[in-house]
Amino acid sequence: MKNIQKKPIIIAVFTIIILCLLLYLKQGFSSGEKVGNGQTITKTGFALDTVVSVTVYDKKDEAAAAEAIALCSDFEDIFSRTKEGSMLWEFNNGAELPSSSELASVISSARYYSGISSGAFSITMGGVSSLYDFTGENNIPPDASLVTKALEHSGDDKIIISGDTLKLADFETKADLGAIAKGYIADRIKEYLESKGVKRGIIDLGGNILCFGGKPDGSNYNIGIQYPLKNSREYLCAISVNTASVVTSGVYERSFTYEGELYHHILNPETGLPVKNGLVSVTIVSDSSEKADALSTTCFVLGKEKGLELVNSMEDTYAAFVDENLNIYYSDGFEAQLSKAS
Ligand code: AMP
Ligand code: MG
Repeated sequence: MKNIQKKPIIIAVFTIIILCLLLYLKQGFSSGEKVGNGQTITKTGFALDTVVSVTVYDKKDEAAAAEAIALCSDFEDIFSRTKEGSMLWEFNNGAELPSSSELASVISSARYYSGISSGAFSITMGGVSSLYDFTGENNIPPDASLVTKALEHSGDDKIIISGDTLKLADFETKADLGAIAKGYIADRIKEYLESKGVKRGIIDLGGNILCFGGKPDGSNYNIGIQYPLKNSREYLCAISVNTASVVTSGVYERSFTYEGELYHHILNPETGLPVKNGLVSVTIVSDSSEKADALSTTCFVLGKEKGLELVNSMEDTYAAFVDENLNIYYSDGFEAQLSKAS
């Protein structure tokens, strides 16, 4: 009898939850414009293989925000590994690259992070990365012999610099800037917005977040560190920043499970296999988004001890390492930025 009386209530609660969920999904992924309290304007699109959004706080900045989203697509013509005819695609297919180009400047930064990490950060593993299929149906690990063969064509020595040009040593070597390009692009988008007089905003390139100028009321932004599960909207903690980039590398972003084993997209350059060191994510906070992006991947590969040592040796750079038991390990100074709202 009791159960019969509860049934309509359960159905009503269930219906409300479903409606809320649908509304939430619609808002989160709608392409185009989302106007919040009348001042907050978010422009959203799909570019760089991910959802990108730019938030500004003044109606007069709306056109600049829309243009910033369009710029993200323009950057694909330089940095996309898969878009035929992009500058990176041409480079990967034998073209020489002028060292004065934007692409060469990001490759040069990448070589710096490779150098300071004894090769843990490696952009020449495109041939290895492309053996893994994280998106399609074919979620099985690649054949070990193929990985070994592809690894023979990776390494910084495969980038040949002569005079004012760069080229790759052979046709099997493929550069992949997936661990640094979004950060670089976020820095450029910020420069663009500032050149248009935008004083404050948030640039979110698929979780590569750059915020600047603080909120209109003068307070800081609270940026959450995602709970390390695919598509999770929950946060482990939040940090309070006025102007900074917050970038996370996590196993949950692109991964699959095969015979009980997790295969994810951050690879050990020595083995070509997904890094397995007990970590599930690394978050970096820095003024430079390019640095935060490159370092989040670098520190993930280096692991907790070496990664913390590296970040602690850098000024104004902070890190949070999360292990598979959800323990969080902070670099010096990170905890001072933990948001009171967390
Ligand atoms: P992120 O999400 O910034 O950590 O970048 C991960 C992406 O960078 C992967 O999807 C690969 O395209 C590429 N990648 C994987 N392993 C490495 C590595 N050890 N060094 C540099 N890039 C990597
Ligand atoms: Mg990265």
